[in-house]
Amino acid sequence: MGYDRNNVFAKILRGEIPCERVYEDEAVLAFKDINPKAPIHVLVIPKGAYSSFIDFSIRGSSEEVATFFSTVGKIVEQLRLHENGFRMVVNSGPDSGEEVPHFHVHLMSGKRLGAMA
Ligand code: 5GP
Repeated sequence: MGYDRNNVFAKILRGEIPCERVYEDEAVLAFKDINPKAPIHVLVIPKGAYSSFIDFSIRGSSEEVATFFSTVGKIVEQLRLHENGFRMVVNSGPDSGEEVPHFHVHLMSGKRLGAMA
């Protein structure tokens, strides 16, 4: 699985494109989606070069994968999304409509989100 170093999230990680960051540590960055689908719409990405969820789950170490998902939980708590509820979405591959080939988790909240399409 190749990784496109010119995808927009790689550029955000290199500081070539700005973002509204909500959380950062040595392994994870979270920032606001530029085209939010809910009042709160945050993207959480690992800093490693992984093109999709499958790529991350296969090539990432168990520690990396576990740390990433526990950090997603920490971000949910930090933003208090668990209080009224939230939706967590991962798009992977062409049928999902994944636009950016760097693994990311969407966190959406802030209103009744309705049924999933
Ligand atoms: P996907 O469809 O790949 O799961 O979602 C990619 C998301 O990235 C979309 O919701 C889109 O709005 C967001 N996005 C695309 N380009 C940028 C950007 O330059 N900055 C930010 N903050 N979000 C972006």
